[in-house]
Amino acid sequence: MKKYLPNGNIPLLIRELQNKFQVYAPQLEGKQIAFKHLVFPERVRLDYSLSFLPPAKLIIPFSYSKESATNKQKQLLFGVHLADLDAINYLDRIFSQPINDPIYQNIRKNFVIVGVDYPQQKDAFFTDQHEYLKSRCDLFLDKINNGYLAIPGTLLGQELLKSKYFEVITSQKYQPADKVNGNDLLKNIPALKKAVLNKNHPIWEEMAQKCLGCGICSYVCPLCFCFDREEKNTLTQPPQQLRRASSCLLKSFHAIAGGSNFAPTIKERFYNWYYHKFVRMVDEYGQPGCVGCNRCSTYCPAGINIYENLQRLIEQ
Ligand code: SF4
Ligand code: SF4
Repeated sequence: MKKYLPNGNIPLLIRELQNKFQVYAPQLEGKQIAFKHLVFPERVRLDYSLSFLPPAKLIIPFSYSKESATNKQKQLLFGVHLADLDAINYLDRIFSQPINDPIYQNIRKNFVIVGVDYPQQKDAFFTDQHEYLKSRCDLFLDKINNGYLAIPGTLLGQELLKSKYFEVITSQKYQPADKVNGNDLLKNIPALKKAVLNKNHPIWEEMAQKCLGCGICSYVCPLCFCFDREEKNTLTQPPQQLRRASSCLLKSFHAIAGGSNFAPTIKERFYNWYYHKFVRMVDEYGQPGCVGCNRCSTYCPAGINIYENLQRLIEQ
């Protein structure tokens, strides 16, 4: 059953949710939107276009271990955008196929997700699949006039809807807001794969001249999940096996014992990033490892734009 959430009830609902969950939500931090622990419900910003780090990084943060999942209060991500919902759903597949990863699953089951619809950042190239994604979270808030239409996607979502802050829908209240049109670039999967397989294209050399090899693009990407293993030892605790986020754009990522390196040049590492996202992940999961959020382009210090690069590769 769907219900209506008036804008004015949102902070009240969040305050109620805070009694049961640790709530994370988008908030203004300086000039950026940060998706982080919410202390004051009135500070929530659902009208944002892009958070600096994706909410997926709250599920698999820059450092985590199997101990990360133990004795935790349930965590609720409030206001996850469609592209980020898409990414979290994809991560759920990656960490369950072909091999189930119990560390990820134990962390993930502690998260409740409330999605929200809002016009995305103007440069994002998210594919239009709103209807499908609305059912891929516990509760989805679909923008309508003066509030949101709340659509449960799970039994827990139905429980959340019992709050007095959701109202019964009357036809006068329900008028859909204008929707963003999706972009078709990521739908053209065979063309994308073929284009990226063209290793002789001049773009790879051009990008190698520009790219700083800093790895920021992969640290902000909701679908970059590679990690290094590290053992943390203290005098008082048993050793912990940590997973620390890493980036295949870094030279150290490809280093092996004896001083050899599988990808010593930036050109090889830059190409590998695209190859993994648009060839290997397509082969493994039938879908590119990119949801078109545009974070990598927004935060690249060298001004490298993934959308422009993919368009150029496809055109030539
Ligand atoms: S953020 Fe830009 S400069 Fe840094 S590694 Fe990625 S593409 Fe290269
Ligand atoms: S590759 Fe870039 S645009 Fe695609 S999901 Fe990652 S950060 Fe977003």
